[in-house]
Amino acid sequence: MIGARDNVYDVIVVGGGAAGVGAAASLRHAGIDNFVVVERHTVGASFDLWPAETRFITPSFPTNSVGMLDLNSIAIGVSPAFSLELEHPTGKEYALHLRAVAKIFDLPVFEHTDVERVTNDGDSFHIDTSDKTLHAKHVIWAAGEFQYPRLNGFAGSALCHHTATIASYEDLEGDDFVVVGGYESGVDAAYHLALRGKRVRMFDRGCPWKTETSDPSVALSTYSLERMRQSRFVEHVELFPYMPIVSVTAEDDGYEVAALEGQRFHTKSKPLLAGGFEGSLKFVQDFFERREDGFPLLSENDESTIVPGLFLCGPTVRHDNHVFCFIYKYRQRFAIVAKAIATSLGLPTDDLEAYYRRWGMYLDDLSCCGEECVC
Ligand SMILES: Cc1cc2nc3c(=O)[nH]c(=O)nc-3n(C[C@H](O)[C@H](O)[C@H](O)COP(=O)(O)OP(=O)(O)OC[C@H]3O[C@@H](n4cnc5c(N)ncnc54)[C@H](O)[C@@H]3O)c2cc1C
Repeated sequence: MIGARDNVYDVIVVGGGAAGVGAAASLRHAGIDNFVVVERHTVGASFDLWPAETRFITPSFPTNSVGMLDLNSIAIGVSPAFSLELEHPTGKEYALHLRAVAKIFDLPVFEHTDVERVTNDGDSFHIDTSDKTLHAKHVIWAAGEFQYPRLNGFAGSALCHHTATIASYEDLEGDDFVVVGGYESGVDAAYHLALRGKRVRMFDRGCPWKTETSDPSVALSTYSLERMRQSRFVEHVELFPYMPIVSVTAEDDGYEVAALEGQRFHTKSKPLLAGGFEGSLKFVQDFFERREDGFPLLSENDESTIVPGLFLCGPTVRHDNHVFCFIYKYRQRFAIVAKAIATSLGLPTDDLEAYYRRWGMYLDDLSCCGEECVC
């Protein structure tokens, strides 16, 4: 049975996704037991919502015993490659993996519990949920970036179908699609439609498939680039780089899609919006200073610089010019957060450091190097 006396915890983790489950596993390694994960739906819920056909672009391939076992592992000793026997799991398959990890680490999770408000009185955090108020000295905010599809990006964007709300590409009616956004989700949508023999026109304000950087936070993944070279894609998908879409208007028999420089396109099917999310940080944004680029300013332990005890985990984390937007990037920070919280609770951290060191991970040197490939 989960529960602390008077709902008082050492740590509350908000969100049971990849970041929340991974951070909670690190708390276990740090010897912290009085914590709880609070999840609005069920563990892995946002992965459950991916279109049925969408697969991980980052491959799962079990490595030898250095660091975490594959690119999509969130804790030492677990690997979706091993447990699922899949290189590119679907969202639903990965959600199953996360639930298994939560079980293996015996994580205390309040599911179906929505965090509605977070306050801080200078001493503790008070978290109002749908059915009770929880209290803690430390909060790990891991509520994710992909819950709130942005439907106000341009005039008429609410008329479009956001890819995050598509259950399966199989269900989409029509033969002729416009996809707004040419990064990972856009290519994924175009690919699945092309496989079904549909005509697709894909627009992007830039040209992500030609971006010259080795950082997959900016450039398209090799998985998507390979898909773009497949004959079905080449035959069915027309690319419109450097063409920002500024409006979508409903017409009698479909939609008009207008680009910045006046070009107009017509389609009978609802245009698809690929990408664009609001993120969940808005609930706690006043607790963080902002960097110039709008991302939260964090201490070297990923803690708020103005409200001590509040930590951020997940794809929103930024340090200098390092973008931690993939699992294999932001997972490097879990143990750093766990160590900082253990230290604040007066717990020794030697065993935690030794444990990670055994797996080739050094807690004072877990940021990505930011170097790009040169060939
Ligand atoms: C289509 C798609 C494909 C992707 N492919 C890859 C990939 O191949 N490789 C990769 O590394 N990353 C990929 N990503 C990114 C990956 O999904 C994110 O890195 C991951 O979901 C972030 O984990 P998270 O725990 O921060 O957020 P989430 O997994 O979204 O978890 C946040 C959790 O918090 C809960 N929550 C939110 N608000 C509240 C609240 N107020 N109260 C209680 N609970 C709340 C949510 O229900 C959710 O379960 C992809 C994303 C998308 C959308």
